[in-house]
Amino acid sequence: MATSQKLSDKPRTLIVGGGYVGLTVAQQLQKKVKEAGGVVTLVDPLPYMTYQPFLPEVVGGHIEARHAVVSHRKHLKDTEVVTGKVTGVDHEARTATVELDDGDTIELSYQDVVMAAGATTRTFPIEGLAEQGIGLKTIEEALTLRNQILDDIEAASTMTDEKAKARALTFTVVGGGFAGIECIAEIEDIVRAAVDANPRLSQSDVRIVLVEAMGRIMPEVSEDQAEGVVEHLRSRGIEVLLNTSLGSAVDGELQLIDMADKSEIDRFESGTLVWTAGVAANAVAKSSGFPVDERGRLKGSPTLQIVDDEGRAIPGAWTAGDVAATPDLTGAGPGGFCVPNAQHALRQAKMLAKNLLAARAGESLTEYKHESLGAVAGLGLYKGVGNPLGVKLTGFPAWLAHRGYHGMAIPTVERKVRVASNWLNELLFGRDFTQLRDLETPRRQFEEAATPATKK
Ligand SMILES: Cc1cc2nc3c(=O)[nH]c(=O)nc-3n(C[C@H](O)[C@H](O)[C@H](O)COP(=O)(O)OP(=O)(O)OC[C@H]3O[C@@H](n4cnc5c(N)ncnc54)[C@H](O)[C@@H]3O)c2cc1C
Repeated sequence: MATSQKLSDKPRTLIVGGGYVGLTVAQQLQKKVKEAGGVVTLVDPLPYMTYQPFLPEVVGGHIEARHAVVSHRKHLKDTEVVTGKVTGVDHEARTATVELDDGDTIELSYQDVVMAAGATTRTFPIEGLAEQGIGLKTIEEALTLRNQILDDIEAASTMTDEKAKARALTFTVVGGGFAGIECIAEIEDIVRAAVDANPRLSQSDVRIVLVEAMGRIMPEVSEDQAEGVVEHLRSRGIEVLLNTSLGSAVDGELQLIDMADKSEIDRFESGTLVWTAGVAANAVAKSSGFPVDERGRLKGSPTLQIVDDEGRAIPGAWTAGDVAATPDLTGAGPGGFCVPNAQHALRQAKMLAKNLLAARAGESLTEYKHESLGAVAGLGLYKGVGNPLGVKLTGFPAWLAHRGYHGMAIPTVERKVRVASNWLNELLFGRDFTQLRDLETPRRQFEEAATPATKK
């Protein structure tokens, strides 16, 4: 175990995770805690917050990948930023174990801990999925997906083997929630544009499939709106398969199963397989030793404190966002808990910061209660669906509402401006579907050049 000599020895407010919740809590607390003689420390394996609602737009090429993330160091000037992964918490001793990037492990002592490690992609034991699939939770996944799609299209255009070509031009997304629907819509948009630009290919070569196990998509919008989206996607040539699940994905050959009688519906090869069928609380919730519910979420209270199995608040322990089971006092949330979304994460984070300071000052705490403002999704350029503030929108107005809301919601003015300038560039110069090659083998060309001719 390495020592942490370079880290502050002031009383620490430790934030585990620098996503929506962690970044916002740090922004709210850093100056006040500093003035009181303490330090806010934010630990995250990534040096940035990922604005996840923009991941489909990164796939679609509307936003530059770097602009959909917010640098911790640049925007948290009064916070001690540690790039590492919290692997355990000993709350009795008020210490957390952190695995640093270089493999060293350090212990950080703290006064209060804020558990904000979010959620990870939830998968099922489907043969071949781990090898063939990709999620859509990180900026790296979004960027890789985009490049892979464009690479496959380019490669397909010179293929003579019809089976290989069909595989390269088949794109499948599993999961009909917001993320899956936005993702398939963006994929369709960029695939059509890239195929149009390639004279060796035609749109009839392309197959785009959405697989959803339930009888409907997008539980966040009304049933008639969801049906409208299905119709809309089908009109764009996307095969929307409801009540269908993925049975196997060995070697990229997808087996689709009818949910009713478990019979095989279809079997085909797909070069792209995106899995967006659900999220689960980050595993650090369990390894922290704090009480978790049956879904692995930290047991939370309306005051955003972690509670013990009897529902009593644990002093000095706080949680919010996707990692927490926070009671939904409006009564609208499934099972009585807030749904895992950014709308709650952001508001909970602000209240958590206030309550943490109030607890230190011996003042009373406020309970979190938030009526949903509705949801709005982008379905590719100029297309969308949603019910912001209860108003049903489709098409261009919904798309505008989606961009307007998220353009304003991404943290920091600097990021808002960068994202807006991406959109302006697209308006002026059209969609950018340049793919970057060799991202995973960036030294390939240099190695070839540096290898003596005799060894080649
Ligand atoms: C594709 C997509 C689209 C979405 N669109 C919308 C939308 O339109 N509207 C909406 O309201 N919501 C949307 N969401 C959901 C929303 O992004 C999440 O609800 C929100 O990010 C939750 O915030 P959080 O802070 O709890 O978790 P996150 O933002 O996920 O942050 C968790 C952080 O913890 C870090 N971490 C993980 N493990 C550790 C560890 N062991 N130690 C330290 N740090 C750790 C992670 O690196 C991450 O930075 C979308 C999600 C996705 C994936």
